[in-house]
Amino acid sequence: MINVFLKNKINRRVENGHPWIFNNEVNLVDGEVQGGDIVQVFTHDKKFIGRGYINPKSQILIRLLTRESTEIINEAFFLNKITRAREYKTRLGYSENCRLVFGEADYLPGLIIDKFNDYFVIQTLALGIDKWKPEIVRALEKIFSPKGIYERNDVPVRELEGLSQQKGFLSAPFDTNIIIRENELKFHVDIENGQKTGYFLDQQDNRRELKSIVHGAEVLEVFCYTGTFSAHAAYYGAKKVLGVDISENAVNQARKNAALNSLGHICTFEALNAFDILKSWAKEKRRYDMVILDPPAFTKSRENIDKAIAGYKEINLRALKIVRKGGFIVTASCTNLINPELFLQIIDDAAKDARRKLRQVTYQTQSADHPIIRGIENTQYLKFLIAEVS
Ligand code: SAH
Repeated sequence: MINVFLKNKINRRVENGHPWIFNNEVNLVDGEVQGGDIVQVFTHDKKFIGRGYINPKSQILIRLLTRESTEIINEAFFLNKITRAREYKTRLGYSENCRLVFGEADYLPGLIIDKFNDYFVIQTLALGIDKWKPEIVRALEKIFSPKGIYERNDVPVRELEGLSQQKGFLSAPFDTNIIIRENELKFHVDIENGQKTGYFLDQQDNRRELKSIVHGAEVLEVFCYTGTFSAHAAYYGAKKVLGVDISENAVNQARKNAALNSLGHICTFEALNAFDILKSWAKEKRRYDMVILDPPAFTKSRENIDKAIAGYKEINLRALKIVRKGGFIVTASCTNLINPELFLQIIDDAAKDARRKLRQVTYQTQSADHPIIRGIENTQYLKFLIAEVS
C-alpha cells in the first residue's frame, strides 16, 4: 500500500478529526497511485493517521475511511461500518425509513444510502467509494435482505471525480414506485425519477412540528414537491391546504399522496412558479394562516451566494406579507453554504422589511438520521424555523 506523508506546517485539521486531505497539505505520495486506491496517511514525522481513498484528479486528494491502524479496508470493513450505522440509527428511533449512511457523518465519505423500509437507494459520489459498490451492495444484502437496491448516481458532482452520471438497479429489478410510512401518513416515493433519492427524509421530524399550530388553518405550502408538509398539515387539522411547486410531476405525485391519505378534499396542488405567485399574491392581498417555504438550494457554489441570499430574502419577505396576523411562517433552507446565523439574519431582515414581528416557536435542523459531526461544517446543512407572525 502506498504511503502518503503530510506537510509539517499545516493546520492540524486532519489530525483533529477532519476526514479530507487537500492536495496542498501533502508533502509526499511515496509511489505510483491510481485514482481510487487505498493509501496510508502519516504525519510529517511518520505518525500513522489513517487509511483512505485517493483521487489525484479531485481537489480533495484523500478522504479517510479509518483511523484505526489495525483496520483493513475490505468487504468486512463495509459490512461492519454499515452494521454500525444501522445500530446507531435504530438506537435513535429510525428503523423503517432513514438515511442509513450520510457520508462523512457516518464515517463513510462519499457514500449516501437511504433506506425506504425494505428498499435502498445508493449514491457513490467519489471515485474511491464508487469502486466499493459491489461490496456495499453485498453488505446491504447480508444485513437487510432487501426487496430492492437502486443506484441514483445521476448527480453532476460525480463528474468532478471523473465518474459518469448513471442510475439503475443494483439488485433484481423491482417496481420503483413504492409506498413508505412516515409519522401516521403514507407517501408514494418514485425511486427512479423522484428528486435526489426520491424523498426528502431530512424533514421527517420537522414535519411533525406543524401538529400543535395548524388546526383550523388555511395553509399555503410553497416548493411542496410531493406534498409531504401539506399532507401533514391536513392530517393535523388544517381547514384547507394549497401546495405549489414548479414541477408538474411533483404536483401530480402530491395529489396522489393526498388521496392516499384520504386528504384529497382538504389539499389542492398547482404547478406554479413560487417567485411569481408570492409576488402577485402578496400584491393581491391574499392571506393565509400558515405559509410553508422549503425551497431548493438556490446555489451550489460560493460565487453565487449573493444571488441565493437575495432569493431567500425575497421569498420570505413576500411570504411574511401573506401570513395573517397571529399566523405562522414555516421556513427552511437546505444549502450548507448558508450557515444558521446567516439564515436567521436573512429571515430577520425579511421580517423588518415586511414590517412583521416574529415570535420563534422552534428552530431546528435536519433529522438526527442525518448526523452532524461537530467540526465538519457541511454536515450541518438544514435550517428550519417556525415563527408566529404579528
Ligand atoms: N418540502 C419538500 C421538499 C422541497 S424540495 C419535502 O419535504 O419533500 C424543493 C422543491 O422546490 C422541488 O420540488 C422543486 O421542484 C421546487 N422548485 C424549485 N424552484 C421552484 C420555483 N421557482 N417555484 C416553485 N417550485 C420550485
